Amino acid sequence: MPDAPDAPIDDLVVAGHVLAAEGVIDSFGHVSIRHPGDAGRFFMPRVRAAELVQRDDILEFDIEARPVRPTDARIFAERMIHAAIYRLRPDVMSVCHHHAPAMLPFCVAEMLLVPVFHLGATMGATVPVWDSQDEFGDTDLLIATEAQGLSLARALGPHWTVLMRGHGVTVAGRSLRETVFRAIYGMRNAETLLRAHSLGAVRTLTPGEAAAAEAFNLQPFATDRAWEQWCSRAARAAKPSL
Ligand code: MN
Repeated sequence: MPDAPDAPIDDLVVAGHVLAAEGVIDSFGHVSIRHPGDAGRFFMPRVRAAELVQRDDILEFDIEARPVRPTDARIFAERMIHAAIYRLRPDVMSVCHHHAPAMLPFCVAEMLLVPVFHLGATMGATVPVWDSQDEFGDTDLLIATEAQGLSLARALGPHWTVLMRGHGVTVAGRSLRETVFRAIYGMRNAETLLRAHSLGAVRTLTPGEAAAAEAFNLQPFATDRAWEQWCSRAARAAKPSL
């Protein structure tokens, strides 16, 4: 059990349930938080589907992705993603890595993922694409080394969502709720863009619209409202129907 305040760990557990209930994470994918009292540490679960994760599954890691306490639990190779982003981005307090089906076409096609609607702008106005082939050649596409993690974190740069060619997506935020919000509405933006393309030419948000909408929607009054509803849905999803 990590030595940390209860509330952030409980929220991290719930965030995994929310991301699963909303279809962002399935058996794979993970979400983490930076230690609220120690910028050089972070928390993420042991290897387990997010919707099943409980408090006892949460492990603490140092900034080089080593477990702070010895553990027999299987740990994610891709914790390297989280460690690298916490190292390069002091403003980031939470990271999510996922393979949401709606996002994957944009990890495969040449078409850029761009904001096309108000809430979708919270994925960030610019979504870079990282290609493991560029620096690492033929791999299994996982990010399993420090060098790969740092390469991805550099590609993320100052942005909030980065696509990983042929693999998935990594999302960052200044809080856990912000990361969850960006991840869910980034996925919905991808769904909307795909559907809109089937109708013909697409009008994207202007850079100014995207920046203004992102700033507006990430205010706590909006993210807290969504969080409350998502938690309720996730709790209902966990209960057998009556
Ligand atoms: Mn992955």
